[in-house]
Amino acid sequence: MTSSARPFLNRRLAEFGTTIFAEMSALATRTGSINLGQGFPDTDGPEEIREAAVRALREGRGNQYPPGPGVPELRTAVAAHQLRRYGLSYDPDTEVLVTAGATEAIAASLLALLEPGDEVVALEPYYDSYAACIAMAGGRRVPVTLRPHHGEGGPSFRLDLDELRAAVTGRTRLLLINTPHNPTGTVLTREELTAIAELAVERDLLVVTDEVYEHLVFDDAEHVPLATLPGMRERTVTIGSAGKTFSFTGWKVGWVTAPSALVTAVRSAKQFLTYVASGPFQYAVAEALASPESYFTAFREDMRAKREVLAAGLAEAGFTVFRPAGTYFVTTDIRPLGETDGFAFCRSLPERAGVVAIPNAVFYDHREEGAPFVRFAFCKQIPVLEEAARRLKALAG
Ligand SMILES: *Cc1c(COP(=O)(O)O)cnc(C)c1O
Repeated sequence: MTSSARPFLNRRLAEFGTTIFAEMSALATRTGSINLGQGFPDTDGPEEIREAAVRALREGRGNQYPPGPGVPELRTAVAAHQLRRYGLSYDPDTEVLVTAGATEAIAASLLALLEPGDEVVALEPYYDSYAACIAMAGGRRVPVTLRPHHGEGGPSFRLDLDELRAAVTGRTRLLLINTPHNPTGTVLTREELTAIAELAVERDLLVVTDEVYEHLVFDDAEHVPLATLPGMRERTVTIGSAGKTFSFTGWKVGWVTAPSALVTAVRSAKQFLTYVASGPFQYAVAEALASPESYFTAFREDMRAKREVLAAGLAEAGFTVFRPAGTYFVTTDIRPLGETDGFAFCRSLPERAGVVAIPNAVFYDHREEGAPFVRFAFCKQIPVLEEAARRLKALAG
């Protein structure tokens, strides 16, 4: 939180200073540490997809403003992907909207759908843009905390469905869901999602669901899109993105799928944010989405292997490891190391071990709930993760 921003920044955004990622990435650079803070891959996605972008650029496709809803090729590819994988049918012309990454999709959805004072129930800890976008829309966030649970499959963060039900009031406009969940790595089960769906139907709520990690689920976990559950398609705005799935986070190509009335509303806000973005990249992502199943399987397998390396290293260093069922983050508990304050721990980690991580508390309204948790990203090359694991052993003494 930079105090220098305070004199000018308005009240809606006053609590949101510079993001922790900027601070921690600067710290990584300054100290020559391995940066496992921000979640971006250290290798680019498939060469063919990169070449597809080059081709589009050379052939003059997308170098000028693309159509407001996105290029038809990409909208068709998004619709085909939802149908092929999930049996969800969307009309590419009226029910798909291309955005400047999932970030713009989240912003536009909240700006379009919320009246000032509306309450948004969101799973805490949450992706940092949620709180800021709810604030910009004049909404009120109502966090429901995912809590550590020590089950048979090892520790994980779970949703308390009674708490979720209790959080819904007469002023609740929408549920903001994220599965697979960043930063905890939790993948909501079909039972949990069914309960969320029943609640949304019963209380007539809209649902915005951030599914950018839909292709990153491991072991027995299954990604169930909320829109596939009974009564949900008509009330759900589903958000996807190419950044995480194809390892091109800089391209900023995301999308929304929803019934046409909802897409129309979201587009009304989106047209005054970026209007359009990423022209040539939209063509490349259209090709990427049509990749054979072997691409997605290999990608998942690669990330699973990386998870193994980092999770093992963290356990050996003495952390309690919440082995993620999805995403490319692993959350740890630092208390076995004799630590309680994730902020202080992350600020000292570069000095102590030459590694940068993110204190999960930044993703909480109830800072104290998140205090002992620290997140590490494993979307890095195996030798980098091995070196990080080696360095972290210093903590075990
Ligand atoms: C990375 C991320 C985003 C942002 O995606 P972009 O397509 O890069 O804008 C949104 N939600 C979650 C949960 C993320 O981890």
